[in-house]
Amino acid sequence: MSGGAPVLGILGAGQLGRMLALAAGKLGIATHVYGPPGDTPAAAVSAAFTEAQYTDEKALAAFAAKVSVVTYEFENVPARTAEVLSALKPVRPGPGALAICQDRWIEKRFLQDLGIMTAPFANLEQESGIAPAAAAIGFPAIVKTRRMGYDGKGQRKVGDLRALQAAWHDLGRVPMILEGFVPFRREISVVGARAVDGAVASYDPVENTHENHILRTTIAPAPEADRVRPEAFRMTRHILDALSYVGVMGVEMFETSDGRLLVNEMAPRVHNSGHWTLDACAVSQFEQHVRAVMGWPLGSPERHSDAVMTNLLGEEALGWDARLPPPGTSLHLYGKAGAQPGRKMGHLTALSPRKD
Ligand code: AMP
Repeated sequence: MSGGAPVLGILGAGQLGRMLALAAGKLGIATHVYGPPGDTPAAAVSAAFTEAQYTDEKALAAFAAKVSVVTYEFENVPARTAEVLSALKPVRPGPGALAICQDRWIEKRFLQDLGIMTAPFANLEQESGIAPAAAAIGFPAIVKTRRMGYDGKGQRKVGDLRALQAAWHDLGRVPMILEGFVPFRREISVVGARAVDGAVASYDPVENTHENHILRTTIAPAPEADRVRPEAFRMTRHILDALSYVGVMGVEMFETSDGRLLVNEMAPRVHNSGHWTLDACAVSQFEQHVRAVMGWPLGSPERHSDAVMTNLLGEEALGWDARLPPPGTSLHLYGKAGAQPGRKMGHLTALSPRKD
């Protein structure tokens, strides 16, 4: 620790780390970001930056010596990284939660053990598992790599055995899961937080729409939120408690046409579908995460406004230095260098008076 003042260490230097660092700054907490070389928007707004690989144990030890608590904005850090750091400083959320959320097979089994509904799924560890998995799940189905998938990367919808065999090769012959295709009515998510003392606070469920597997808009609250709120909150709390979780988590769900809620994925970090909280709540998901991991009490997740958040992808984020967003709309730009198509470069949040 530096001079007694609290320092939050953040693994990962992307936009989520940037918004965490800004929220920490608002609370008088300095941040130290750690990440490999590349575009590092979080480093630009942090007091310190260690540019190093996640496997560099010397750099990790030096980083740990300088911070009070370690968190992450990117869940695919190697398990060993979290282990090395947790021997030196509190790592929140803990390495156990990280390990579960990093592997879709382990994640789905964890949910199943809690009695939480998911899409039907089967392990597809190696080539000989293709036919049994297809027989168990049927078609259409979605095949997903167990590890390192995000924004639709590492997954494919398949309609028959031949397509599944092709996908298995194209996705790199790594361990995968096969999931039954859920003809969902809509996708919702809950951003929940759990404090060191076990208190839980969840933001209202929101409705998400995706384009090319990338989040495009979040409507907060989800229309007809009353229908899903009790069950969505119950499942979120159950997951957080079962993991003895500390921090913010994004829980993605499918609402089926017959009114069931299935959990699709848990993100052990602040979540894109919670960005609206920056403008529509007194305490944003980023502040909430900082509060939780620093051992502070949680803030209220109440919203003062309704919101629609739209991601700015690729070149949509360019030219804002010469243009005003529509009235009542808040612009966020992440300061990334390369505006490749589909890359999350910023977002807009349109506010309106709270209706309920
Ligand atoms: P994921 O990477 O698991 O979050 O999946 C990305 C997106 O693919 C989800 O937001 C859904 O739109 C779609 N998807 C994933 N799994 C399924 C499924 N089992 N059934 C239908 N759509 C799915």
